[in-house]
Amino acid sequence: MSIQGKVALITGASSGIGAATALKLAANGAKVGLAARRADRLAQLVSEIEKAGGQAIALEMDVVDNASVTAGVAKLVEAFGTVDILFNNAGLMPLSDIDMLKTDEWHRMVDVNIKGVLNTTAAVLPHMIGRKSGHIVNTSSIAGRKVFAGLSVYCATKHAITALSDGMRIELSKKHNIRVTCVQPGAVETELYDQISDPAARQQMDDLKTQMEFLKAEDIAETVLFALQSPRHMDIAEVFVMPTQQAW
Ligand code: NDP
Repeated sequence: MSIQGKVALITGASSGIGAATALKLAANGAKVGLAARRADRLAQLVSEIEKAGGQAIALEMDVVDNASVTAGVAKLVEAFGTVDILFNNAGLMPLSDIDMLKTDEWHRMVDVNIKGVLNTTAAVLPHMIGRKSGHIVNTSSIAGRKVFAGLSVYCATKHAITALSDGMRIELSKKHNIRVTCVQPGAVETELYDQISDPAARQQMDDLKTQMEFLKAEDIAETVLFALQSPRHMDIAEVFVMPTQQAW
């Protein structure tokens, strides 16, 4: 199924997987709404997409703030008419052991990784339901399938996204003709580790980069495109994408 002319909202579009997916979808003819908080990054990306002949709009949006999400979706609909594709991708992973009691970081992960997905989905769904068509792609993780030390809260948020994705598919697919895909990447080279405030945990992740070849953000963009382009009758419900060298 072609994504030519489709309107896509991408959260977490200012860097990493979101930015790479924005470029990929725009290059394949989608009109993309780029949502994140760093407006300067979004402006750069819009200009890059437009220079390549694509269409994009910057949506300065905090997924935790419902009013900000509603305003962003309204701006996108005003510009491009509707929303056909939602890529719920904004997230953070400030890893630390639970006994360090970094409660602010726990709450932030719950707010962005879970509530952010709920806020954005709620703002977009009426447009998809109204047209009886749509595709929602949620970024979960290998951490949405397994639990790792130092990642308890992050894993809890990503397990929630895996569960939510399946529930959304069950409730939205047949009834509203909305496909749902849950993407579960292993280690991807992005800015995700910049959020880690515990020096030992940060060192551990930096060491990991010297031990194996990470996936590139473009690899996940390619995966998202594959799911979106699958035939109308086919829903790629779950995709687990790993670096070949990540054997755990
Ligand atoms: P990045 O740190 O590069 O991207 C995270 C994105 O989320 C940024 O664009 C950031 O934008 C956005 N974001 C964070 N908080 C908010 C907020 N409150 N409102 C709106 N946007 C927000 O990392 P990745 O590209 O790696 O992360 C993308 C997703 O992939 C995340 O959900 C992550 O958990 C998941 N993932 C990543 C893996 C990896 O190894 N990198 C593996 C598996 C899953 P801004 O700061 O401008 O708001």
